[in-house]
Amino acid sequence: MHDKLDEALLRVRPFVETLFDTLRQGSVDNSGGVVRASYGEGEQFAHNLLRDEAINLGLEVARDAACNTYVTLAGSSRSHPKVVIGSHLDSVAQGGNYDGAAGVVAGLAALKVLKSCGVCPDRDLVVMGIRAEESAWFQTSYIGSKAALGQLEAAALDARRIDTGRTLADHIQDAGGDPAQLLSGMPFLDPAALGAYIEVHIEQAPSLVYAGNALAVGTAIPGNFRYPEITVSGETAHVGLPRRFRRDALAAAADFAASMDKLWESWDESGRPMALTIGRFHTDVNNDALTKVPGVVRFSIDVRAYDENDVLELQNEMDSIVADIEKRRGVVFDYGSRTTAQVAFMDEVISSKLYGIALEQGIAVQHLPSPASHDAAVFCAVGVPTGLLLIRNENGSHNPDEALSLDDFMAAVDVLIRWLLQFAPSPA
Ligand SMILES: [Zn+2]
Repeated sequence: MHDKLDEALLRVRPFVETLFDTLRQGSVDNSGGVVRASYGEGEQFAHNLLRDEAINLGLEVARDAACNTYVTLAGSSRSHPKVVIGSHLDSVAQGGNYDGAAGVVAGLAALKVLKSCGVCPDRDLVVMGIRAEESAWFQTSYIGSKAALGQLEAAALDARRIDTGRTLADHIQDAGGDPAQLLSGMPFLDPAALGAYIEVHIEQAPSLVYAGNALAVGTAIPGNFRYPEITVSGETAHVGLPRRFRRDALAAAADFAASMDKLWESWDESGRPMALTIGRFHTDVNNDALTKVPGVVRFSIDVRAYDENDVLELQNEMDSIVADIEKRRGVVFDYGSRTTAQVAFMDEVISSKLYGIALEQGIAVQHLPSPASHDAAVFCAVGVPTGLLLIRNENGSHNPDEALSLDDFMAAVDVLIRWLLQFAPSPA
């Protein structure tokens, strides 16, 4: 079996390369990056491609009310708790070809290899192309995976996509889905019918590049709190106003950014993992000018850590930084809406198997808490045993320069397949 498997792994490489090329060509924009907006054209292209390739391979294809795509290699028992191998097919604007899509291609390559080796697993193996993971579009996370598991909040359907201004419900409808069905709360995927969820994803930081390791077994996905739009209000004034009279919103917001960065530095120095990002930061574009003290600044912030107590502590630290700046600078911070995500811990049994298989295969591997959020967190939250396999990737992600080597990618496919053979063996 193992010789046959090694040969099949070699044979699947051109299929993988063509699939990545086709994906890129179908969603490239004139910046050289790819754009697969959630429920947009590029994402739809990727789902159609997944469906067509699956039909070519003789696999079953299904779709749920949120237009997630499911590709199944049928097992000998259809009722045995199945394995879902999932990742998202959307991207940020001017993003890279691999963030998200690599996990779906890995799943499809694994099913192709298993099928070509004549493997009939003891349960269904399902590759899930997930919709709308990137919160950049609707300012809300995990839309597709939450919808599949009956976890999508009704309010999310009213969220408007930042570029079109149209609601999520309208976009789902346009893609051929059924938003009303999503409100019923009936999951397409019943968590009790899932034996495991596994996600392959590129690493979105350079830890593996620096460590010289091809793969990491993800240990946890950070929890976070997010404020999409904090407003700092001071007083618009003339440039000649002496400092002591000023209520400068920009100086206050900059003070906040610097203080939060200082806080992160101190956590770093004491070896406590966290991250924070101020992704948008601007004065009032209709009112600001070379000769005005800015009266209003708006910004977003995402703060993340790997322990619920740490997340709470960071919120408290932020509150006291804000209180101090308000007092010193005579401004007011309005936090606006707040969203949160829980820390998700990967299943220890699945993780140690993945790690062991990689070692056996001579693949350079390590454990790593994921720097980024992933759909895996949603499966974890509903109690599905979950595993995460991260692949080394140069140049970070959410940019057109993501660079994934075929060898590293195939190492992940290799580990995934051998894990599937253990978890869902052919009945003797
Ligand atoms: Zn991603």
